Amino acid sequence: MAFNMSPKKNPMPTQDPAVRNGNFSEVALGYTKEQAIDEAKRCLNCKTRPCVAGCPVNIAIPEFIVKVAAGEFEEAYQIIAKDSALPAVCGRVCPQETQCEGKCTRGIKAGCEAVGIGRLERFVADYHNENAACAPEVIPSNGHKVAVIGSGPAGLTCAGDLRRLGYEVTVYEALHVAGGVLVYGIPEFRLPKAIVEKEIENLKAMGVKIETNVIIGRTITIEELQTDYGYEAVFIGSGAGLPKFMGIEGEGLKGVYSANEFLTRSNLMKAYLSDSATPIQRAKQVAVVGGGNVAMDAARTAKRLGAEVHIVYRRGEAELPARREEIEHAKEEGIIFDLLTNPTRILATAETDPKKPAFGWVDGLECVRMELGEPDASGRRSPVPIVGSEFILPVDCVIMALGTSPNPLLTSTTEGLATRRRGEIAVDENGRTSLEGVYCGGDAATGSATVIKAMGAGKIAAKAIDAYIKSK
Ligand SMILES: Cc1cc2nc3c(=O)[nH]c(=O)nc-3n(C[C@H](O)[C@H](O)[C@H](O)COP(=O)(O)OP(=O)(O)OC[C@H]3O[C@@H](n4cnc5c(N)ncnc54)[C@H](O)[C@@H]3O)c2cc1C
Repeated sequence: MAFNMSPKKNPMPTQDPAVRNGNFSEVALGYTKEQAIDEAKRCLNCKTRPCVAGCPVNIAIPEFIVKVAAGEFEEAYQIIAKDSALPAVCGRVCPQETQCEGKCTRGIKAGCEAVGIGRLERFVADYHNENAACAPEVIPSNGHKVAVIGSGPAGLTCAGDLRRLGYEVTVYEALHVAGGVLVYGIPEFRLPKAIVEKEIENLKAMGVKIETNVIIGRTITIEELQTDYGYEAVFIGSGAGLPKFMGIEGEGLKGVYSANEFLTRSNLMKAYLSDSATPIQRAKQVAVVGGGNVAMDAARTAKRLGAEVHIVYRRGEAELPARREEIEHAKEEGIIFDLLTNPTRILATAETDPKKPAFGWVDGLECVRMELGEPDASGRRSPVPIVGSEFILPVDCVIMALGTSPNPLLTSTTEGLATRRRGEIAVDENGRTSLEGVYCGGDAATGSATVIKAMGAGKIAAKAIDAYIKSK
């Protein structure tokens, strides 16, 4: 094989920023066959395979890349599919720069970029979805039943792995559509919903049952799943969907949203379409508070709905926790970054009283300038307000993207289910909870993390559930 020693990745074709900031179509357009083969030839196929160790589900990366370089795309897909149930999703949203690509030998030398592993994964998965017509194999039942709570990446991965081992698996999902954050949180322009639907259809074709509109802890309890419904094990993959707020004056005003609510309206309920039954505020000026991926998604959504958008973040550029690519895309699309800035109060329209939270609309965000002081416990320099630097950002909508924690519904309705400090469900290294036969993984156990980590946890728990049921 002839190596391509180019120090830079093949660039990802994307929609023009000035066009895409007015539509919801996918930003990144994907490699052509020629670009994929050329990029694959940048892989040195090194013996130590550091990229594999950097992947939370240990995909055989050099092996699949060799197949891409040879133009054997379906064979490449089959290698990835052994370890990942959602390659078209992960190729799009995984933080590869801190995982597989962060460890890539090609990226070590100054001025050199890692192999575009995520871009190749996406190419291979899209190729398979467009060209492979074969239905997944349906494994006969082994006569044992397992319930999965939540249909995000953790639940879907656990369900898929157990079904492949012969278990009869039913996934219970509180919402009316399966997919978790992949459908309600991550916007269409980063992850088209048709891709998630396709992955879920594959699982259903394998025999995984999905019951939507069932809230475990309300409609059915975990205990009832184990007794009345006869499930021998239960996996909790209920995520971390409870939003945080700042606790500042004016948060009850109309025009203040959690990022989760704002994104759910747009993504799940399709409120960005003119014929949607769900309303969404088409604000003139929006402040999104926070600096993570969720803040970038909310800001870029608000921009596409026609607003001037400010990201308000209390630390500096270097500390922004979002993926670099998302920050760059947001900047290209015209999002304004107000860094070292912290909100202190949300102002209300003149005729209303901000202390009566049910009344009034947002009419500005009071902020204070910050400077970075001494490092805190996390090692990051802590932001300190600059006295007297308050100013008003003239906005009519404020979106809080400050992180989320697990919803306490399951832990408050399930006796003996132990939790950690911030309400995460306590698990051991195999995803076992404090209750016999009850397992948990993904954001419900770790707090808000990543798609691939949730998938990895679903895989580990599926193995442990199999061992547990076989040992009985
Ligand atoms: C806006 C946004 C953008 C993100 N961007 C990225 C990104 O680019 N890359 C990345 O790797 N990660 C990203 N993440 C994080 C990632 O999506 C999560 O870490 C991942 O989805 C967690 O998977 P999960 O299966 O644990 O939970 P979730 O995806 O949250 O799924 C949990 C599911 O359980 C359901 N549920 C909850 N309670 C119950 C109940 N009692 N009964 C029945 N069902 C229940 C919920 O409705 C939900 O469908 C993002 C998160 C958000 C919010």
